[in-house]
Amino acid sequence: MAAKFTLVIHAGCEGIIPKHYSAEAEHEHLEYLRKSLAAGRRVLEGGGHGLDAVCAAVQVLEDCPLFNAGRGSVFTHEGTIEMDASVMSGKDLAAGAVAGVTGIRNPVQAAALVLTKSPHVLLMGTGAERFARIHGLERADPEYFETSRRREEYLAVRKQAGERFGTVGAVCLDMAGNLAAASSTGGIPCKQHGRVGDSPVIGAGIYADNAACAVSCTGEGEFFLRRAASKRIAALVEFGGFSLKAAASAVLENIRTLGGKGGIIAVDNAGRSAVIFTTRGMFRGLVREGEAERVAMFGPPGAWQ
Ligand code: ASP
Repeated sequence: MAAKFTLVIHAGCEGIIPKHYSAEAEHEHLEYLRKSLAAGRRVLEGGGHGLDAVCAAVQVLEDCPLFNAGRGSVFTHEGTIEMDASVMSGKDLAAGAVAGVTGIRNPVQAAALVLTKSPHVLLMGTGAERFARIHGLERADPEYFETSRRREEYLAVRKQAGERFGTVGAVCLDMAGNLAAASSTGGIPCKQHGRVGDSPVIGAGIYADNAACAVSCTGEGEFFLRRAASKRIAALVEFGGFSLKAAASAVLENIRTLGGKGGIIAVDNAGRSAVIFTTRGMFRGLVREGEAERVAMFGPPGAWQ
């Protein structure tokens, strides 16, 4: 048994600067991060599986209308909502993902079902929705996902007046020493109908392998796809002799040289974590066994690694 569990979460990294948030808004965002950590922590403290913990943590963030995943997802150019989600278990490299789904209240649950109940890794669109329905997942009408804030943003982005994005994710090392990761997103605002980002692509926006680390990314998905970012971090750790933090930093630097930015959370098989970003802030949280939950949104990553 590993001595301790470690759980790290993020809820996106774009546009997080103090002048955009009142004290109440800041408090509200941080409260949701705490709730997400608490949900994951409950699973881990009880000796539960890392996979269940990351799903529980992500589900809280999907249910929150403030973040770009599940309820509160951004709109496509056509004004619809198309969500992507994924999960991966580091013990056996089992993975499940859904892309371009609508009407599924918790896409991360659909991804978990693909992992447990199908021989496939990635289901998309109506096929994924049908699969989720057959397995009894809760559905929700378009009005459930659409928030007035996202609609305003959508109208502004359509006029080229701004750009915000986000994704939610969680990585953990459980008490049995197994790594797991989960990600869920509405994608980038005003995306083309049918566009799929890095979040449901194993090795790009998410990866987990007990031989190295668990990773969840946020940022401009096209760059994370082109760098195979998450798998690259795992490879640098497993084969390159990099520390987790050095590997994650190297990959974010690789992404910067392509012209992209974003954030990464990761945990390795010794429970060391990396929480880094090249934006001005990132919604983030971390908890270890026996320690208080830590959450933040503004400023540099700080010394939580
Ligand atoms: N990576 C996500 C995507 O490209 C968006 C984000 O993380 O902000 O779909």
